[in-house]
Amino acid sequence: MPSVGSVDELKQILSDEQVVTSGAAMRAYDCDAYPLDKSKPFAVVFPRNTEEVSRVVRWCGETETPFVPRGAGTGLSGGALAAKGGVVISTKGMTQLLELDVENRVARVQSGHVNLKLTQAASEHGLYFAPDPSSQSVSTLGGNIAENSGGPHTLKYGVTAQHVFGLTMVGFDGEVIELGGPIADHPDSPFIDLIVGSEGTVGIVTEAWVKLSPDPAAVETVLASFSSTRAACETVAAIISVGIVPAALEIMDRKVCEAVKAAFGLEYPEGSEALLLIECDGEPEAALTEIQEVRRICEAQGSIGLQVAADEEERAQLWKARKKGIGALGRIAPTLVTHDGVIPRSKLPEMLDFVSKVGSEHGLITANIFHAGDGNLHPVLCFDEREPGMIHAAETAGQKIIEKCIELGGSITGEHGVGVEKLDAMKVMFSEDDLRLQMEVRSIFHQSELCNPCKVLPNQKGCVEHMRRWRGAAT
Ligand SMILES: Cc1cc2nc3c(=O)[nH]c(=O)nc-3n(C[C@H](O)[C@H](O)[C@H](O)COP(=O)(O)OP(=O)(O)OC[C@H]3O[C@@H](n4cnc5c(N)ncnc54)[C@H](O)[C@@H]3O)c2cc1C
Repeated sequence: MPSVGSVDELKQILSDEQVVTSGAAMRAYDCDAYPLDKSKPFAVVFPRNTEEVSRVVRWCGETETPFVPRGAGTGLSGGALAAKGGVVISTKGMTQLLELDVENRVARVQSGHVNLKLTQAASEHGLYFAPDPSSQSVSTLGGNIAENSGGPHTLKYGVTAQHVFGLTMVGFDGEVIELGGPIADHPDSPFIDLIVGSEGTVGIVTEAWVKLSPDPAAVETVLASFSSTRAACETVAAIISVGIVPAALEIMDRKVCEAVKAAFGLEYPEGSEALLLIECDGEPEAALTEIQEVRRICEAQGSIGLQVAADEEERAQLWKARKKGIGALGRIAPTLVTHDGVIPRSKLPEMLDFVSKVGSEHGLITANIFHAGDGNLHPVLCFDEREPGMIHAAETAGQKIIEKCIELGGSITGEHGVGVEKLDAMKVMFSEDDLRLQMEVRSIFHQSELCNPCKVLPNQKGCVEHMRRWRGAAT
């Protein structure tokens, strides 16, 4: 474990400016966007390239210091917190776009590159990076790869895994591993698939080859209002059942509408209990035909208002509730826990009723803003963590919601990962044998307990103690 001289050693490996240990900085890095677990690292380091990451990881191995990869810290399951202390390895200094190969529609990036910046750089060539988590203006490609992130448009275009062709990764012992390259279907692809979505538990991704997609020729966007969330959910099922796969199908409930109305002055038809945002894209004629059919279905399902975007400006306006919704919910309560589960689309109405009931039973305000097209729910639990008992109430309600997802034939996470948040849920979802098998898969990469310990797989040793100590000390 780190000793008195450790900071000096790290500064020799990197430089003074690349190693931070101040109390204020440690507080800034004691959690990610999941607010219920906190744990203080010993140091945060900012390497600039693969070689520097490798040197830090080797030092961690020699000194038996746990290490945790971290991008922008927008993760919603506690994946980037230092559960056993140790060193947080930030990719903040690794933001370069190394190659933009327009002809082959691929890019090579350092893992700290911000998602949206890649699309901005590619846009002058009529290209973009399709996975678009709602955090895309800040979250990094390394974080997106680690979480196998989705987003509004991944319903049609596929999640991050389908857009990663190659990786450079520093393994648990500092070894640099190169996999794949600028082409799809490389012989290494099955190994890349194991790493994407592994939540930083098998190594630190330092660079990636990613696919770029051509901008669609036309985009058609509609915002439909409904007098009940049930009607909005049933409309989602009706659209998919006629064979249309929209580029996006997103629902926001009344609480979200109220929050964005208060924050940005957005107006929706009187009596709106839910908004359904639908986007169709492709060749102009095809996109237009699809959106006309979508409008017909919305009307048949009793929509009480349809807003159609006439141009890019209006489209951005219709997207505002979706893009700014979670931020606006900060007006309702100081603490937000955004859950993430998946259920069959047909069960959405039943599940939303359940979320609301569990929320009231535990004294929580609930709001819902989610990727309805793929049944990926995001119930947001809103409360004040300073009020006695509320953290426990939110944890209990969250666990009940996730268990209900399993009961309805779904899964404990669609895109935010397991992190530390859903360790207990893993035990409900998987049998002991399943969990052992998953641990064996991890051991293909390493058997060390130093690489992002206490994440994803339950029953790892000494994990709860550090977090409890830090939580206790901090309050
Ligand atoms: C407002 C808001 C909206 C969001 N919307 C979405 C959404 O639509 N879809 C979605 O999928 N998620 C969403 N998220 C969750 C989050 O933004 C994503 O999981 C994102 O991919 C995390 O990226 P990050 O750079 O912030 O990673 P971090 O939070 O820093 O890290 C996340 C995990 O990745 C690991 N990691 C980070 N970098 C690396 C690396 N280089 N190598 C190996 N492991 C690494 C960390 O150890 C951690 O386990 C949202 C979050 C917020 C706050």
